[in-house]
Amino acid sequence: MATDHDHDHDHDHDTQILDAIDRFLKTEVRPHVKRLEQADEYPAEIVEQMKKMGLFGCIIPAEYGGLGLSTATYAAVVARIASVWMSISGIINSHLIMAATVLRSGTEAQKRDLLPRFASGELRGGIGLTEADAGTDLQAIRTRAVREGDHYVINGSKTWITNSLHGGCLALLVKTDPQAEPRHKGMSLFITEKGPGFVVTRKLKKLGYRGIDTCELQFDNYRVPADRLIGGVEGRGLQQVLSGLELGRINVAARGLGVATASLRDAVAYSQQRKTFGKPICEHQAIQLKLGEMGTRVEAARLLVEAAARAYDRGERCDMEAGMAKYFATEAAMDNALECMRIHGAYGYSPEFDVERYYRDAPLLLIGEGTNEMQRLIIARQLIQRYPA
Ligand SMILES: Cc1cc2nc3c(=O)[nH]c(=O)nc-3n(C[C@H](O)[C@H](O)[C@H](O)COP(=O)(O)OP(=O)(O)OC[C@H]3O[C@@H](n4cnc5c(N)ncnc54)[C@H](O)[C@@H]3O)c2cc1C
Repeated sequence: MATDHDHDHDHDHDTQILDAIDRFLKTEVRPHVKRLEQADEYPAEIVEQMKKMGLFGCIIPAEYGGLGLSTATYAAVVARIASVWMSISGIINSHLIMAATVLRSGTEAQKRDLLPRFASGELRGGIGLTEADAGTDLQAIRTRAVREGDHYVINGSKTWITNSLHGGCLALLVKTDPQAEPRHKGMSLFITEKGPGFVVTRKLKKLGYRGIDTCELQFDNYRVPADRLIGGVEGRGLQQVLSGLELGRINVAARGLGVATASLRDAVAYSQQRKTFGKPICEHQAIQLKLGEMGTRVEAARLLVEAAARAYDRGERCDMEAGMAKYFATEAAMDNALECMRIHGAYGYSPEFDVERYYRDAPLLLIGEGTNEMQRLIIARQLIQRYPA
């Protein structure tokens, strides 16, 4: 049973971690964001620092070499990082969604083999689901794995896969039985490390979310050992991916909270400096209305993210809570970025100010980890299921 002493200890530990993150962001990240983002350059040195801080293992339990943070603390870490540079939160987040599939669905041997390497950041990666003709409708994927002795041979292509150029592996969703009905019974998930036949064909250009690599991939008779089939059983791939999505949605929601917070912070500061008609613009009611809405959105987003993260930490079903947090916090990011831009006038349209980046980064959050159209459908279905008439 948890005692008050344990609780205080956890609280101190979390505060120390959040303080260390703030120092790291101030000295190692903020001074370099503009240059790296504008050059679309991978932040290799920042990644080395993140490895040292243990961030690649922040939610992996200590017994497998991670920091073992609660989801609530992890969400706070992600929001802080995203309030300075959203791209680097993606380098950890997609990696941890991959790690979570092993943690939740892997065999004990897979956990012992892979999780310590994931936690140290020695082996980094992401998730390979999307194909040119299948995003929301994942059951339509065509990448195929065929068993040959103690290996599977994989052929097909993926697109929009983050961390695939600079990372070393992916949780890769494939079809092991394309004829299966229902279709998801023919889907499986593998941890695929780079090797012959695993080819990055193109790094994609993006509106925002720069510096982090998102690519097209080709699998050409790529051979993966059969013991890399997650859970050791075929046909559970989609279920394994979906079970990781609650966590994925909480962390995208936390990114939204970060971008919404950054937009508010910059708007509050700028509106006190810029003067029109003899007074700072923050004294005009039109600007105050915007600040009032932006601040309220940030606090509401924070509460939704915390509630979803706490439900996840208690082991409760939280697809509705995670969906609400994801939907609201990411729309808050987009709305606050636009309002922040308006408050900056022409300067908001210039890369000299960070708001231009928030405005380009925010839309990804509306799309990734289940589009916000899908989130509202999931919320509605849960409302109907939980409260039958
Ligand atoms: C920068 C970036 C990074 C990404 N990183 C990754 C990654 O690391 N790994 C990965 O696997 N994928 C990644 N993706 C892909 C992303 O997950 C997909 O784009 C997303 O799932 C949506 O799929 P889609 O683009 O095919 O859109 P579609 O599925 O074609 O959807 C198009 C539109 O139709 C709507 N729609 C679809 N079905 C329904 C429905 N049933 N009811 C109502 N509306 C519907 C959608 O909401 C959307 O508005 C990334 C994308 C971007 C932009």
